[in-house]
Parts: sequence; structure tokens; C-alpha cells
Amino acid sequence: MYKSIVIGTGPSGLTAAIYLARANLKPLVIEGLEPGGQLTTTTEVENFPGFPQGIMGPELMDNMRKQAERFGAEFRSGWVEEVDFSKRPFSVKVTGQEDALQAETVIISTGASARYLGIPGEQDNVGRGVSTCATCDGFFFRGKKIIVVGGGDSAMEEASFLTRFASEVTLVHRRDELRASKIMQDRARENEKVKWALNRTPLEVVTDDKGVKGLKVRNNESGQEELIEANGVFVAIGHTPNTKFLGGQIKTDDHGYIVVKPGTTETNVPGVFACGDVQDTKYRQAITAAGSGCMAAMDCEKFLEGAMVHDWSETLDQ
Ligand SMILES: Cc1cc2nc3c(=O)[nH]c(=O)nc-3n(C[C@H](O)[C@H](O)[C@H](O)COP(=O)(O)OP(=O)(O)OC[C@H]3O[C@@H](n4cnc5c(N)ncnc54)[C@H](O)[C@@H]3O)c2cc1C
Repeated sequence: MYKSIVIGTGPSGLTAAIYLARANLKPLVIEGLEPGGQLTTTTEVENFPGFPQGIMGPELMDNMRKQAERFGAEFRSGWVEEVDFSKRPFSVKVTGQEDALQAETVIISTGASARYLGIPGEQDNVGRGVSTCATCDGFFFRGKKIIVVGGGDSAMEEASFLTRFASEVTLVHRRDELRASKIMQDRARENEKVKWALNRTPLEVVTDDKGVKGLKVRNNESGQEELIEANGVFVAIGHTPNTKFLGGQIKTDDHGYIVVKPGTTETNVPGVFACGDVQDTKYRQAITAAGSGCMAAMDCEKFLEGAMVHDWSETLDQ
């Protein structure tokens, strides 16, 4: 039996593993389908503190893993398909393993996957002109033309934010009405750098030898195909938190994000903690994920020492 199982190997899970391992708790870390998490799908990371020249995403994640291994964290490949949190020790069923693993505590750090459009040219160019994170990648597009795809609040926010860098931001949405709140729409509409291409269905991210050249769309009114030229395409159509495997045993919000007690990483089940993007509807950055991974490990230690009072009444009142 393990003192602690960490599910997921993004910045939050690996930071939790480093802290647990250094506290001599010998965590078992389950890698999941994407060992190293979302940052392994990008190129340069320029906003993670400690790397003045930036660092490649995969290298950063490899370093975090080595740091956890150095202090005795054990890693296992596969992903968690089922858990039983109804009694302690908790059971965690990993693919390819006959018997479920047992642990006194579990840290869920399974992230939230950005939704993509699923059109040709999109996946091949993630990190090379296609992005799902304006905060992360806007800086790379100074003085360039950008497209933002989406019609919700986050698309409006990303479009407005990206005008700080871009010469022009075109907002593409497949309907002529937006889902975004009026205030967010107004803010984007007041911004002269934001152009609108509504009622356009994205068909393909078009590239040439210099990189992304634009987005091919169908004009739903005329039925004609058009090319909207841009150097970057930001897809802002939401995220899906990876919480399905929990089978409803952990309290989530309407979108599937884990609800934690404010200011902690405690879930509704004592001894189960959540950190990183899977519980973060707002920031979703590597450094905030890492920070909450540290919190989860410290909460876990406290729980194992028997020094944690589980009081969820405040959370449930909200
Ligand atoms: C293309 C791109 C570029 C980005 N650039 C930046 C940047 O420059 N700066 C920045 O701060 N942030 C950036 N981000 C955001 C950053 O990557 C995330 O905020 C961060 O990775 C979240 O960390 P996490 O640990 O919560 O989850 P993730 O990194 O999403 O990792 C989740 C982990 O959980 C595992 N997992 C999922 N389900 C299961 C399961 N059932 N069983 C076992 N394991 C499972 C996965 O395999 C993975 O290892 C970028 C994101 C993307 C997509």
C-alpha cells in the first residue's frame, strides 16, 4: 500500500511528487496518456520563473520528473480508469494492472484538456502558430495578425488581450450570435483592433513554408470558402477537465472541474486532494498548477499526520 498516489504528470502532479518524495512519503505517480502533461505539446515556455532565456516545454517537464525521481518518487505508465473512494485505503485501478492499487491518500492532477476544432492543419501546428492559450503565446505574435476562434467569454477575453501584441485580431465564430456576456462582447467591440468574421465555419489551418498563413472558413451565408490571413490561430472554445474516471465520487462543478475547499486542495472526500488545471477554472498556467501541486502535497502530509480537520461546510454554503 502506498501512502500517496499522484494521478497525472503535468506540472501540478510532478511538483506534488517532488514535495511528497522529499517528505519521505515515497509517492507512486501514474503517468497517464500524456506523460509530462500539456507542456510537452508546446515549444518554448517563456513565463516559467527561473529560466531567463525560456525553456522548451518537454525539457522543463523532463527536469521536473528527474527532480521527483531523485528523491524517490516511483513512476508507473498507464492511466487510471476507475477509483474507489468510498472506503480507506482508496483503490486506484490502472490500465494493464490486474489488481487495483491501494493508497492512504490520492492527489488528482489530471489537468483540463483544451478543446480543439478537429480540422486539418490544426494539430500539426500546435505550438507552431496554433495555440489554445493567449497568456502563454500572445507574446510570440508581436506586430502580427491573429485569429481567435470562439464565441464565449474566454474568446472575447483572449481577443482583447491579444490586441496588446497583434496588429489585428479577427474573431471567427460559426454563428452570427455570440454566447459571450454583453460586457465582454462590448469590450471586444470597442477595441478597434478586433475585426469580426461571424457566421464562418473553420475548415482548415492553412500553412506555407513560413508557417501558419491563415484559416480557411466557409461563409455560412454565401456558402463560399474564404481564406482569412493570419500568422497565428488561437482556439478558444473551452477546456474539458479530465474527471470522467472519478465516476461522480468527487464533487465537481457543472463543467466537470473538481471543487476544492477555498484556499486548500481538499476535495469533498477526506484524503483525496486535487491540484492544477483540473480544479482551476481561471488561471490554468504551469506555475499556478505547480503551486497548487505543492499545496496538495503539504495538505496530504498534514492529513497523514492526522492533523487535518475536514470541514466542508463553508464550501458547500457557496
Ligand atoms: C500548447 C500549450 C502551450 C502552453 N504554454 C504554456 C506556457 O507557455 N506557460 C504556461 O504557464 N502554461 C502554458 N500552458 C498551460 C499549461 O500547460 C497548463 O496550465 C499546465 O500544464 C497544467 O498542468 P496540470 O499539471 O494541471 O495538468 P496537465 O499538464 O494537463 O497534465 C495532466 C496529466 O494528467 C494525466 N492524466 C489525465 N487523465 C489521466 C488518467 N485518467 N489517469 C492518469 N493520468 C491522467 C495526463 O497524462 C497528464 O500527465 C500551455 C498549454 C498548452 C496546451
